[in-house]
Amino acid sequence: VKLIKLPPDSTSYWLPAFVPQPGGQRGMFSPATYRSAGGPVSSSCLGCIDAPCRLFAEREVMAPVLVDTPVYPDRSVCPADALIAMGDSAVPEVDEGLCIGCGLCVARCPVGAIHIDPTDAPYELAADEFTARRERLSLVLSREIAPFPDSELVGGQLARIDEYTVKGEEQRTFRMLARNVFLALGYPARLKNPGDNNAFSELVIDVDDALILLEIETGGDTLDAFRRSLSGWAIALSRYKVSPDRAVPGVVLDRLPNTRVDYYEAVKNTADRIGVALRTIPVAALLLGLRSGDDRLLRFVKDSAVADSDRRSLEADAGGLWGGSPNSGFSPGK
Ligand code: SF4
Ligand code: SF4
Repeated sequence: VKLIKLPPDSTSYWLPAFVPQPGGQRGMFSPATYRSAGGPVSSSCLGCIDAPCRLFAEREVMAPVLVDTPVYPDRSVCPADALIAMGDSAVPEVDEGLCIGCGLCVARCPVGAIHIDPTDAPYELAADEFTARRERLSLVLSREIAPFPDSELVGGQLARIDEYTVKGEEQRTFRMLARNVFLALGYPARLKNPGDNNAFSELVIDVDDALILLEIETGGDTLDAFRRSLSGWAIALSRYKVSPDRAVPGVVLDRLPNTRVDYYEAVKNTADRIGVALRTIPVAALLLGLRSGDDRLLRFVKDSAVADSDRRSLEADAGGLWGGSPNSGFSPGK
């Protein structure tokens, strides 16, 4: 997976014809049509002053949630700090060595100026390569606007996240990825400040009938994340009087734990004994949810996403929502 931005000096060769479908949202992951006589094309960067590809607006990051919880004020869209503003031009550049290919900037750009290129095409483009490149990119774009699923791309994205996440920065990257996907989908989502022991839950997402309380754990200590999540759930009920029907606890994991981990037993026991179904949300679900740009991620979290000792794989749930057999992190490792 490689993220590319069309070279600004090629803009005149392209015939931008951006036609969003009714009800569609911004970005390449939206149900949008890009057409010209020569096939699907794209517009190029407008150099937006507010740069939605790089920054959330303050009102997005600070959106109120039902409970009184502090908020991490970082407005960066890119969880890997790979998107940088170039001088005064306001045209962002992608640092290919840092980009984890999550697609957040892609989904945020209103004119589709950034694309994920699964062919790993080179960014630099010589003039005489332009025709070939245009055809190749047209194929990529036609795939991107095809109905999901594209499990191959999600698998590639996960591999890129593994490879490109800067060592020592994993926690920040995954925290930002989780919060930013929910923000990009339009849900109020508050992340606590790192190390803030007064905040009862790491990430709080407020939707109409659910208060989703998530812990983010990519270090492998899944049982600890499980305990933290239940603790956040209990505080939401006792201190903030959130109804048990409304509070939805869960953990975000890079992949489902392997079958030997006691996690699945713990989830089952908690459901049996106190009636709380802890959700498990693999990072692949965040990527698929962002890509589909609708309420499917929310439905996954609310209505399924319970992996326990009776049912260790979430692949059928993900396949039911996003089609096909995503097979990327939705089943336990061996
Ligand atoms: S990439 Fe898109 S959102 Fe970002 S500055 Fe360019 S046009 Fe605006
Ligand atoms: S937001 Fe994601 S896809 Fe965009 S530059 Fe950052 S890491 Fe890459």
